[in-house]
Amino acid sequence: MRLLVTGGAGFIGSAVVRKAITEGHDVLNIDKLTYAANLENLTAIDKSPNYKFEQQDICDSDAMRTLFAEFKPDTVMHLAAESHVDRSIDGPKDFIETNINGTFSLLEAARAYVDSGAKNFRFHHISTDEVYGTLGPTGEFTEESPYQPNSPYSASKASSDMLARAWGETFNVPVVVTNCSNNYGPYQFPEKLIPVVIIAALEGRDIPIYGKGDNVRDWLHVEDHAEALLLVAEKGVIGETYNIGGRAERSNIELVRMICSILDDALPNSTHRPHDSLIKFVKDRPGHDARYAVNCDKIEKELGWSPSLNVEAGMKQTVAWYLENQDWWEKLRAGGLDVSARRGLADKK
Ligand code: NAD
Repeated sequence: MRLLVTGGAGFIGSAVVRKAITEGHDVLNIDKLTYAANLENLTAIDKSPNYKFEQQDICDSDAMRTLFAEFKPDTVMHLAAESHVDRSIDGPKDFIETNINGTFSLLEAARAYVDSGAKNFRFHHISTDEVYGTLGPTGEFTEESPYQPNSPYSASKASSDMLARAWGETFNVPVVVTNCSNNYGPYQFPEKLIPVVIIAALEGRDIPIYGKGDNVRDWLHVEDHAEALLLVAEKGVIGETYNIGGRAERSNIELVRMICSILDDALPNSTHRPHDSLIKFVKDRPGHDARYAVNCDKIEKELGWSPSLNVEAGMKQTVAWYLENQDWWEKLRAGGLDVSARRGLADKK
């Protein structure tokens, strides 16, 4: 495939690009390089003749039209987004700009490309299970669940999903949408829960957990997500939505205790053992969704995908990666992580 990937220097996008290049696809990666991007995530493949990078803002509609016309993609995989819920509470504007206006600009570029005679083209819009809102103690999100976003982040993603749908129905842009649960794995920017926990525990600092730690998330390894995305990009049925999840519901406190116990085993001489003694409950995030659980029967039955890593094995691999790649996250911190009390992050300085 000739894949035009947006946001390919971020956490999930870089996993998609690494896998796509390894599988022999041609990739044009379009990324604005915001604080969340890191081109070092791509050093394994960036010398490949099949890989090209353009630093561009997806909101720049002229640039997007030109890139579509020049690269002539078979498939767009649209991942570029502002992705951190806490930041969307502190300052929603960038979320509206990139997630809504940026998606609009890309859909318009896709429409012009289709109208110019592009054949066998598809636009894969990549979204989140957070658009469905929150669940009580039982039940799961299906592709038919109503949209009930609760944060500025999820509202902006829900809006972009609706735009993708409308451009399919009204303008015949061949659209397919995926909604995935929480991802974890290597190269995740250290403002998100799992790297925050690993790094705080390693340094013997408080491990911040919102509220009582009873919020439940469904965890999926990023490489399993990348595999599902490439499958949908190739074989997903146009006009359809596929939910993607890990079938691995864990409360935040369970997950954090799991990470602490992995670290206890990995670092028998650490003076910070037992690492779970560092856990500190902090004031909850406003509008914090209680529980997410994704029913992914459709992608399993129709496309034959299922997660390959269980969360225990995946978390062990992830903790080992952060231990072995300390310079990767130290450099980000040296560059000045924008931390706030509500995010619960502690800067080393
Ligand atoms: P990320 O924040 O790690 O990466 C986002 C990337 O998009 C960055 O490289 C950034 O530079 C780029 N970007 C931001 N604004 C841009 C703009 N205006 N123009 C061009 N590039 C821009 O995010 P992620 O965690 O990799 O998430 C990728 C996608 O997957 C997002 O659409 C997100 O909503 C979705 N998603 C994420 C998760 C998760 O758990 N992280 C789960 C489900 C869905």
